[in-house]
Amino acid sequence: MQRIGIMGGTFDPIHHGHLVAAEEARYQFGLAKVVFIPAGHPPHKVSRKISAASHRLAMTQLAIQSNPFFSISAIEIERPGLSYTIDTVREMKKIYPLADLFFITGADAVLEILSWKHFDELLAQCCFIAAKRPGYRLGKLKTKLPGIGEEQLKRIIIMEVPALAISSTDIRERVQTGRPIKYLLPEAVEKYIVEQGLYQKKS
Ligand code: ATP
Ligand code: MG
Repeated sequence: MQRIGIMGGTFDPIHHGHLVAAEEARYQFGLAKVVFIPAGHPPHKVSRKISAASHRLAMTQLAIQSNPFFSISAIEIERPGLSYTIDTVREMKKIYPLADLFFITGADAVLEILSWKHFDELLAQCCFIAAKRPGYRLGKLKTKLPGIGEEQLKRIIIMEVPALAISSTDIRERVQTGRPIKYLLPEAVEKYIVEQGLYQKKS
């Protein structure tokens, strides 16, 4: 059966951490492709003002264009209301009814999975690939996810990614304070940020 990866994220901005994790997952798990899905209205990030969807889509598009296995979907952005992963996975199942779906996330995010909407159905519908971020000691997943079933646990797979301590938060702060972001993200995305004046301090 064909395996398809889903890389969800706010991508504000997308950076090499995301791209390396997606490519590593594609390789390690034999994914036919990885679909990048920029979040529409993430329920976990309501406190921070997120850049316009059009900017996040444009940056993601620029970042993935050199990889023939990567594509982008605006399904979350086009869906009204808060973006729940379960709705995205249901939609992807409709588009790819015969595929095995693999949702790629950071290991930090996977620890919150029990709090996600309909996590039972979510784990039944797709496997999770949890990329371990640098300096991140995950410990035993089982003790970190109390109450999770044995079968469910098998559907969360930890993947080591080369140390990349890159985060969108750090990149935004760097832009604000005039520090370099070069090499942390694709050059075309850096150019887009400068041209559009993203992440500048509001005066
Ligand atoms: P922010 O700092 O705004 O939270 P972020 O860098 O964590 O941004 P997101 O868009 O929130 O980026 O992340 C999308 C997904 O990519 C999440 O599952 C996150 O855990 C994962 N991720 C983010 N940075 C890395 C990285 N450097 N290596 C591997 N995975 C990452
Ligand atoms: Mg994050």
